[in-house]
Amino acid sequence: MATAERTSELTRYRMLIGGEWVDAASGETFESVNPYLAEPWAAIPEGTAEDVDRAVKAARAAFEGPWGQTTGGERSKLLRRLSTLIAENADELARIETRDNGKLLREMRGQTGLIPDWYDYFAGAADKIDGRVIASDKPNFLVYTRKEPIGVVAAVLPWNSPLLLLTFKLAPALAAGCTFVAKPSEQTPASALAFAELVQEAGFPAGVFNVVTGSTDVVGKALVAHPGVNKVAFTGSTETGIAVAKSAADNLARVTLELGGKSPNIVFADADLEAAANGVVSGIFAATGQTCIAGSRLLVEESAHDALIERLVARANTIKLGDPMEPETEMGPVAYREQLDKVLGLIQAGVDEGAAVACGGRQDPDAGGLFVQPTILTGVRNDMTVAREEIFGPVLSALTFTTEDEAVALANDTRYGLAAGIWTSNVHRAHRVAHRLRAGTIWVNSYRTISYTTPFGGFGMSGIGRENGVDAIDHYTETKAVWVELT
Ligand code: NAD
Repeated sequence: MATAERTSELTRYRMLIGGEWVDAASGETFESVNPYLAEPWAAIPEGTAEDVDRAVKAARAAFEGPWGQTTGGERSKLLRRLSTLIAENADELARIETRDNGKLLREMRGQTGLIPDWYDYFAGAADKIDGRVIASDKPNFLVYTRKEPIGVVAAVLPWNSPLLLLTFKLAPALAAGCTFVAKPSEQTPASALAFAELVQEAGFPAGVFNVVTGSTDVVGKALVAHPGVNKVAFTGSTETGIAVAKSAADNLARVTLELGGKSPNIVFADADLEAAANGVVSGIFAATGQTCIAGSRLLVEESAHDALIERLVARANTIKLGDPMEPETEMGPVAYREQLDKVLGLIQAGVDEGAAVACGGRQDPDAGGLFVQPTILTGVRNDMTVAREEIFGPVLSALTFTTEDEAVALANDTRYGLAAGIWTSNVHRAHRVAHRLRAGTIWVNSYRTISYTTPFGGFGMSGIGRENGVDAIDHYTETKAVWVELT
């Protein structure tokens, strides 16, 4: 990956627009900060509305050029080539992400190591995007449908899993024959720029994939409001998702939204408590709690409460905080200063509203940097701020229930509906409760697994649409009906 240049202390990146590596029209850059070292490490182009306009026009020109006429088989070959290049560069991409967001190198390697599977899977789907012949009520017509690419896709991305969440959108979009403009988070802009080099090397035509970096207010807003964009694929917070959807609505651009969550992990007294404790701990403390699917509300049957909390506290107290690049580190810092302040403020709100701190509760005094101790709050009621708001940090809010109905009611009493875990040894209960929960993903005696094969997305305020699985391609196509008069 040669796009980035090291000048003085900072690695300098350029944007990819219309197949060319460019600085921002303003000539300005901003610094991307390594949250563990609290030091800037990269200089990133501070894109402008003019850059967004150029990128959308380049994507449009590519869509209307030869790319728009490619067959699924041709796109499939390019996707497979891209998959191979990502696999060859997975370690370097993971290091860039860890430098940007402070998450464990082990976790980011896990993600970048899996990303090629997404491109292989959608390569397999690219030449199977079929329309169908309609059983028409009009005997003098042959009617059939075609699924055609939707056009120019704008992707707006968060900082927690930058390339994986880009891939959820890009792989089906390219399979369908769309063109693409990505705007990574300003907290984690570097990996999308490094990745763009691989897209070019794979041989995608100029303008098919573009990346514009810069601020939310300038680049983010200009991109989602651009009249040349046919579809906005967004991952981020619910509040931003609503603003993005409103802006896209002015152009009737299609949207898919993957938003926040306050997902319950429900532990029944008949569960294997050891397994449940492992699942609850990884559900909330993995990735420092900075995942949309974090199991941030523990709902535990009252009779198992003390035994489970004891296990959870014992595990939480041994989690090793430290340098995310080191293999023995189990939890890294939160990604940036405002996020640290937000997490600490919400813990305080929990205490003020009557929750008890079973462990953690503070900024870690020894780890240095932006570390919050793994925190478990007990005695939480579902109307407290810590049970209702997404904290996006290593904070578990524990509530109790006494009946299955109460567990389901508490689980569903949230504006979100992204995911839920059920821990029980009763197979009837497992399915019964899974069917009653209002969430897009339910794990039984497990937590956090996702796959390119399986639809992912939210009920309620957790989003619109599903990513992953072969049906994700439908979000990147328009259906056209063709009527042929036969007589
Ligand atoms: P965010 O909503 O603050 O920002 C996401 C992106 O939107 C950024 O690139 C930002 O620049 C851009 N943006 C913000 N306001 C905009 C506007 N008005 N118009 C256009 N673009 C705008 O989210 P974040 O803090 O980067 O990420 C954390 C959030 O993402 C959490 O809420 C988390 O749950 C959610 N998330 C959801 C999923 C999922 O798949 N459901 C996955 C990961 C993260």
